[in-house]
Amino acid sequence: ATPTALMVGTGRGAQLGILIKGPEVLESTRRADTIVLDKTGTVTSGVMTLTHIVTADGEDEDRTLRLAGALEHAAEHPIAKAIARAAAERTGPLPAPTEFTAVAGVGVRGVIDGHTVSVGRERLLDAALPAGLKEARERAEAEGRTAVVVSCDGAPRAVLVVSDAVKPTSADAVRQLRALGLTPVLLTGDNRKAAEAVAAEVGIAADQVIAEVMPEDKVEAVKRLQRAGRSVAMVGDGVNDAAALAQADLGLAMGTGTDAAIEAGDLTLVRGDLRVAADAIRLARRTLGIIK
Ligand code: ADP
Ligand code: MG
Repeated sequence: ATPTALMVGTGRGAQLGILIKGPEVLESTRRADTIVLDKTGTVTSGVMTLTHIVTADGEDEDRTLRLAGALEHAAEHPIAKAIARAAAERTGPLPAPTEFTAVAGVGVRGVIDGHTVSVGRERLLDAALPAGLKEARERAEAEGRTAVVVSCDGAPRAVLVVSDAVKPTSADAVRQLRALGLTPVLLTGDNRKAAEAVAAEVGIAADQVIAEVMPEDKVEAVKRLQRAGRSVAMVGDGVNDAAALAQADLGLAMGTGTDAAIEAGDLTLVRGDLRVAADAIRLARRTLGIIK
């Protein structure tokens, strides 16, 4: 690899909106045969909106939303932002939690106005979900949405349904990556139904969807593909993607994502457009073609 050719490649990358950490990155770009795509914030916009609320019998919708929103206001997740925004719009400025813990890939728990509140996956709850709420959660997931459970003082009170749109450029990006000979895989902590709905929308087969993965297990999913002999590129944006991006043979971070992801990646896609991942691979192959 002549330094001049690599520098030309790096400069051209900057024009395309690709920041390359070092010239050695290009070599892994050439070998990649599999591309793992994080769902939320990478394939989808990552901007979620609250679509509806289903409360347990006798529970006041606004009161429950307010408690959930006050807690989520202290969290970073796109789901948290959707819930906090809707709560503030509907009920006014939110109180601050006196205690707060976020568990990555699971949800949040804390104390609001003297009540112990949690928002997140069903597993965060102490009690089982009543039939009405369970049904609401299943229906939402079957429609490709994400449902989280709100519990207050130990009892489940409501299911909040959020959804997130696929970026308009993602389907084209998947088509381009496939044309470059890469197999796209969708990787997410979200539920399988929601993940499969997004996969179908962008043209990824259901058997290439790895869903319901805990944040610390995303790196395991990448290792498993590597053990199967694949050379893995991964695109992600979240704190929960950082370890997997570092493990991948080539880590591509969305420039619109978290600092942790950007630090862990070998490349940054400045605009958060997945099509630029295909540009990056094309550029690397061309640059190396010059020097071989
Ligand atoms: P992804 O891989 O799609 O970015 P995460 O691993 O961050 O997803 O989250 C997985 C799941 O954990 C979410 O779908 C949600 O059910 C739950 N969760 C995580 N953080 C929160 C939060 N702040 N509020 C509610 N639920 C959460
Ligand atoms: Mg993400």
